[in-house]
Amino acid sequence: MKPQRRKKQHKEPAHLLTDAMWHAREAVLITTMELDPPGPEIVYVNEGFCRMTGYARAEVIGETPRILHGPKTNRAQLDRLRHQLASGQPFDGETINYRKDGSEYVIEWYIVPLRDTAGEITHWMAIQRDITERKVLEEQLRYQVLHDPLTGLPNRILFMERLEHALSLANRKPRLNAVLFADLDDFKVVNDSLGHEAGDDLLTQVARRFRSNLRSEDTIARFGGDEFGILLEDVPTASYVANAAERIVDSLREAFLVKGRELAITCSLGIVLAASSRERPNELIRKADVAMYEAKREGKQRFARELMRKADIAMYGAKGGGKARYQMFDPDMNTRALKRFDFESDLKRGLERGEFVVYYQPKVSLATGNILGLEALVRWEHPELGLVPPSEFIPVAENSGVIVDIGRWVLQETCVQLRRWHDSHASESSLRASVNLSARQFRTPDLAGGIAGVLKETGLDPESLELEITETVVMDDAQATLGILETLKSLGVRLAIDDFGTGYSSLAYLKRFPVDTLKIDRLFVAGLDKSVEDEVIVAAMIGLARDLGLTVIPEGVETLEQLRRLRKAGCDVAQGYYFSRPLPLEAMTAMLRRNLLGGGPWTLQDTS
Ligand code: C2E
Ligand code: CA
Ligand code: CA
Repeated sequence: MKPQRRKKQHKEPAHLLTDAMWHAREAVLITTMELDPPGPEIVYVNEGFCRMTGYARAEVIGETPRILHGPKTNRAQLDRLRHQLASGQPFDGETINYRKDGSEYVIEWYIVPLRDTAGEITHWMAIQRDITERKVLEEQLRYQVLHDPLTGLPNRILFMERLEHALSLANRKPRLNAVLFADLDDFKVVNDSLGHEAGDDLLTQVARRFRSNLRSEDTIARFGGDEFGILLEDVPTASYVANAAERIVDSLREAFLVKGRELAITCSLGIVLAASSRERPNELIRKADVAMYEAKREGKQRFARELMRKADIAMYGAKGGGKARYQMFDPDMNTRALKRFDFESDLKRGLERGEFVVYYQPKVSLATGNILGLEALVRWEHPELGLVPPSEFIPVAENSGVIVDIGRWVLQETCVQLRRWHDSHASESSLRASVNLSARQFRTPDLAGGIAGVLKETGLDPESLELEITETVVMDDAQATLGILETLKSLGVRLAIDDFGTGYSSLAYLKRFPVDTLKIDRLFVAGLDKSVEDEVIVAAMIGLARDLGLTVIPEGVETLEQLRRLRKAGCDVAQGYYFSRPLPLEAMTAMLRRNLLGGGPWTLQDTS
């Protein structure tokens, strides 16, 4: 016998569908199809709709879907919707709707026509998905991508977006925008000495000060590190920008409280103005950066001059800041920046091609007028630019590291030459030569080994070689310096502190350093016939050198008057244009020969 299979009571498919629709998570809404006012009428909503909107079913049946719209609903989209539905096309989009309690939610929706058996449209069915949460996440993500987490300021990406937008507006009507590049001065010192946490704290506070000194329509962004970009949109005049720059620089005037300490910080600003929509954002930022670099450079020089003015022999105490300033971009700076760039590769090639030459400047005994020594000063005979002074290429060479090779070459060249002079003029075997060591060179690991090698090769008496190292380099990390100086000294060479008076010497170290000579910077010498103060300073330096058993050589002596005062202060060797400018090899050889015949062509006594 076949078992009787009992048929279950199944619902009709139509009922199943209604059920499924009722329980769907999406909101489902069916309306009549009138598009003209008063518009379609809601004939069906599911449970999902009630959950999403807060309306009960009975409250919406017979109403128009407009009850869901509000101020932020996308009107343009509704127009497109009407248009599309009129032509029987499905529609999809995204908009903001309003719940019964008035709160907003974001939906993604699509609308399809429902047709009867004859294919005629009878109703519209809208399916809506609540994407509010996803939108919030997207917003958060967008925020994170476009902002600096430390300060909460916009980052470079957002800055570029805003800048592009600001420039595009200049398309329609003339409009002046300004891009400022701000960089904190010596921020590294804070980070290195107080730690990153303190550095972060300071940056956050600085960001806040900057922000509060700008209009709400301006953008300030953190580019990273201690660099900030500022966009001033639609400014009236260039002088308005200069005033804003001053305000920004000034906003740092008051000290910051970091970890219970008062910290002072300054910034340098570069500014570039953009009136045309054709300007490229990256290019503008680069120009502002170049101008900022100039501001720093200028500031540093001004700072040095200021210091020089105030210098007193004690020279102890904390390092004061004060290079803050701002600078407008001008095309000349571009040339300079480009030059700096080309220089780097040119320098290396120049060295390989033998474009460097050594000039020599005599150091003269004030007692006899004899040349006691020569300072080797490097020159670059650039094939296109002509003779380039070291002040222009040494800093670049220093930055790129080429200085080490240049320095080695100068040393080698000078020693070989000195040896020839010794050989050809027996009585000049006491002639000394000094060579300058740059900061970078001074800290190269096997500096002493290299020097020893050159001395051995040329068979020079180490005593006849002097190495000049600037005061700033010597006093920077004096403890480490002491070791390097001692190693160098053990070779038997002489050591000189160059540009004395421009740095901050610690007397304690000065006493311990195995140096032989102090070279008084020419800025003090220049002040000799103008200011009594400088005369006192120079006299004090000479006294100090004598107490420490050091030779003192003032450099940059240009006039007989300066010479007279130097002698009065007890100085017995000097160097400067008054005696001779640095000379190329042949000219120097000729001068040495003349000097052999008894003194130089210079007057040592006041004849008046
Ligand atoms: P420095 O060591 O202080 O060299 C003295 C500078 O003063 C030289 O400039 C010299 O030409 C100049 N000078 C000398 N007497 C007078 C004067 O009476 N009046 C004026 N106004 N200036 C005078 P220069 O040759 O342009 O050198 C500049 C600096 O470049 C040097 O300053 C030195 O720090 C650096 N330097 C030069 N040659 C070398 C080198 O071979 N290696 C390294 N590392 N640095 C060098
Ligand atoms: Ca020197
Ligand atoms: Ca010097």
